[in-house]
Amino acid sequence: MIDVPASQALFDRASAIVPGGVNSPVRAFRAVGGTPRFMVEGRGPWLTDADGNRYVDLVCSWGPLIHGHAQPDVIAAVQAAAARGTSFGTPTPGEVELAEELVGRTAVEQIRLVNSGTEATMSAIRLARGFTGRTKIVKFAGCYHGHVDALLAAAGSGVATLAHTGKTGDAAVPDSPGVTGASAAETIVLPYNDLPAVEAAFAAHGDEIAAIITEAAAGNMGVVAPLPGFNQGLADVAHRYGALLIVDEVMTGFRVSRSGWQGLDPVDADLWTFGKVMGGGLPAAAFGGRTEIMGRLAPAGPVYQAGTLSGNPLACAAGLTSLRLATDEAYAKLDATAARISTLATEALSQAGVPHTLATAGSMFSVFFTDTPVVNYDQAKTQDVAAFRAFFHAMLDNGVYLPPSAFEAWFVSTAIDDEAFEVIGKALPVAAAAAESAR
Ligand SMILES: *Cc1c(COP(=O)(O)O)cnc(C)c1O
Repeated sequence: MIDVPASQALFDRASAIVPGGVNSPVRAFRAVGGTPRFMVEGRGPWLTDADGNRYVDLVCSWGPLIHGHAQPDVIAAVQAAAARGTSFGTPTPGEVELAEELVGRTAVEQIRLVNSGTEATMSAIRLARGFTGRTKIVKFAGCYHGHVDALLAAAGSGVATLAHTGKTGDAAVPDSPGVTGASAAETIVLPYNDLPAVEAAFAAHGDEIAAIITEAAAGNMGVVAPLPGFNQGLADVAHRYGALLIVDEVMTGFRVSRSGWQGLDPVDADLWTFGKVMGGGLPAAAFGGRTEIMGRLAPAGPVYQAGTLSGNPLACAAGLTSLRLATDEAYAKLDATAARISTLATEALSQAGVPHTLATAGSMFSVFFTDTPVVNYDQAKTQDVAAFRAFFHAMLDNGVYLPPSAFEAWFVSTAIDDEAFEVIGKALPVAAAAAESAR
């Protein structure tokens, strides 16, 4: 591992006053070891850390930056908005424009802007409970919907990275101390891609279930696409019992197509959540659905939901500009870039003899360090984490910044150019060899 004294010094200072030295757990490198890199600049496909090292960024702020860092039009829009004032606590034209862009791209009729994906799913669940008058929620093991109490059971992502174990079955076990048993008891956790398990849960509790929530395509246990018909099957079961289907597109939304996963696999969901790409790298997220349901939200209806900074003018400017740049050509480029990088990765690993599975969902992909096909969380957990750790550090030392966990998607941007491809192409065989000697 290369020396990073400036990052190490910052991490030491941070660790004294911030729990674990970070403001979101997976940033701390706990799953891979070593010193988290403190980044000082991003430009196009590149990140620069506090020691002056440059990396091709395959995290893209965990998804939002589909055009790469400091995209000039996005920066100009944010600067122009900032010059007019940062927040008013009143309605603003930018919110209307962003909401129109989101509604224009998706099946939602009405939308509410919030500040994070967590808020979006939390609010969607409250609305589903308020609308149906029921309490229970069905979620899938390995799906992450933010750190909402009721959804922190078998939640994948950072929770998987920290090696807590979630259980599958009727009585959900919270992943985190501080989430009450009562809260988790309203959550039924089922295996992903298992419609018979969903049928059985509804047969037992059908009149108590307010909603099923699912990632449009799972991306927080590594990438696991829904099997053909799974998402529509969820809609059908839910509707047969008078429950709602909430499709969480916080990760897939406006990344895998101009309208997100619903552009690839349309289903009759009732509510959708969005985040990441729609904020253009600033805090913005949303939830929406049919007017009949969204009309129950305050102040139109009785279900309360609010936010001091919701619809923030800087975030709306960044999100709207980013979405307007997200044309069909941009999506074609994202698809091609993802295909090229994932092919390079799988070729390098095959040549080195490392057992692995390439998993894709549109332009999202990840590499599982196991040769067992992965359709659910239990299978995702069969990975050789030691092999990933060695692979990750060799990539990092050779100038490629991957997600520091085997349970995360790799994110590409349209900014990846020939120079960046060359760095990736050189790093991969070295990293594959490191993975092979670590297993
Ligand atoms: C990232 C993510 C969230 C949480 O969004 P935050 O903005 O981090 O709160 C929710 N759902 C999915 C599918 C996500 O990928």
